[in-house]
Amino acid sequence: MKRALMDGSMDLEGKSQMPGGLDHGTRRKLLRLLGKENFRTDLATRVSYGFDATNKVYLPDGVAFPGSAQEVRSILRLANERSFPVIPRGAGSGFTGGAVPIEGGVVLSTERMNRILSVSREDLVAVVQPGVVTGEFQKEVAKLGLFFPPDPASVEFCTIGGNVAECAGGMRALKYGVTRDYVLGLEVVLPTGEIVRTGGRTVKNVVGYDLTRLMVGSEGTLGVITEITLKLIPLPRARSTVLAFFPSVASATQAVSQILSSGILPSAMEIVDRASLECVAMSNPVDYPQDTGAMLLVEVDGPEAATKEEARNVAEISREVSALRVVVSQDEKDSESLWKLRRAISPSLARLRPHRLNEDVVVPRSKLAEAMETFRKIGEEYGVPLTTFGHAGDGNIHVNVLYDRSNEDEATRAEKAARRVMEATVALGGSLSGEHGIGITKSQFLPLEVQPEALELMKKVKSLLDPKGILNPGKIFPRDKG
Ligand SMILES: Cc1cc2nc3c(=O)[nH]c(=O)nc-3n(C[C@H](O)[C@H](O)[C@H](O)COP(=O)(O)OP(=O)(O)OC[C@H]3O[C@@H](n4cnc5c(N)ncnc54)[C@H](O)[C@@H]3O)c2cc1C
Repeated sequence: MKRALMDGSMDLEGKSQMPGGLDHGTRRKLLRLLGKENFRTDLATRVSYGFDATNKVYLPDGVAFPGSAQEVRSILRLANERSFPVIPRGAGSGFTGGAVPIEGGVVLSTERMNRILSVSREDLVAVVQPGVVTGEFQKEVAKLGLFFPPDPASVEFCTIGGNVAECAGGMRALKYGVTRDYVLGLEVVLPTGEIVRTGGRTVKNVVGYDLTRLMVGSEGTLGVITEITLKLIPLPRARSTVLAFFPSVASATQAVSQILSSGILPSAMEIVDRASLECVAMSNPVDYPQDTGAMLLVEVDGPEAATKEEARNVAEISREVSALRVVVSQDEKDSESLWKLRRAISPSLARLRPHRLNEDVVVPRSKLAEAMETFRKIGEEYGVPLTTFGHAGDGNIHVNVLYDRSNEDEATRAEKAARRVMEATVALGGSLSGEHGIGITKSQFLPLEVQPEALELMKKVKSLLDPKGILNPGKIFPRDKG
């Protein structure tokens, strides 16, 4: 069977044994180690674990389902001994190919390590295994009146291990921060097999280098995270959502500035451009005024009375800044249906084109309107559909350059447009990725932002921890130089 980048269509021709593929002895060892239920090499399993949300498909040689840090250690030790790649994988919802086995080897799925080990209301701390689904964890702690704020739009299916490895963000980052801000400690199996504990279960801890922070956002390249100690906070008593339609992106971003300068710190502020709105409206009920140029969704939370007042003020400010229509949620159900609409945007883009280059750039908030206008013009210039939506509160914009891979010319124009988006972002003082990471899809752009000395330092850290380069090879660093 060929191993190839199977962009969208599977190529299952031929029977050749791939270079670097697992030899018979290694397979037998893995089977003995994990049992046949937990180490699979059948085609259906390999295909199922060969892609993520980028839709780039590579076949692994096998898929391992370890149930403990000790089993992870044994797999990594064997990988070092026999030189095969190991690719950690949570739910495979990543947008940058981080969990994709581009050099074959063994995909290490964390789905059996899916238990919430403890929750302490007194310490406001939970300990979880990496395969716990984020949304399920949030619901469990909410039953105890506790709150785990990071909320990527994939919350219903992504895992906490994947969130930690990507330092996932989400809509509440403006007020509550990102995953990094909630990770107090980790158990990590290093690529060479040592099981290391970092941090602890206290909010304050300045003992030695901050290895926890080094691991958070390391995209499965520095270790396999097998246990996570998380900070929790009390669940806000109430929340309210305001939906406002504006004639332009500029007026929507003006409302963002005025809401923030009025002293309100919303838990979320999402901006959606006209093109994204049209897309999501194809399959969801959204009644927007004809002249809408952008939509703003603002959530405030806290004590009940204060929340109601803040929602009223947000609505008032929006009207003052020329909103065409403003809707304030009446209850929790109302709020949730507005947020469901926001979460539906990303999947709905497939209605315009089957493929996309999905960038999640960040710019200083003061540059938000300029950035969105610049990106729109880039799309026009290259003749490709380009949509923007995202976290207006923290300047993190999801730019989707849409195309059809079967149209080679359009695919090339899309690639060029995406590069221009990255260059424009850096020129505006921004950053290439706010939450999706680098993986394989953005590694070519890394030198635009990271100075050569810093890039060298990152590579040195990688080779110190993973001298044989067996853990998630080919990720983050540009391939020609890495
Ligand atoms: C519809 C949709 C909406 C999304 N919205 C958001 C959003 O709002 N914000 C956001 O930040 N992201 C978003 N994402 C991206 C994605 O969901 C996140 O990156 C998420 O954190 C990935 O989790 P996962 O469990 O799917 O990880 P995977 O995709 O399986 O893996 C992601 C990376 O983490 C590594 N990894 C996974 N588990 C471990 C582990 N235990 N130890 C070490 N490394 C590990 C993998 O090797 C890979 O590099 C969205 C994705 C989709 C499909």
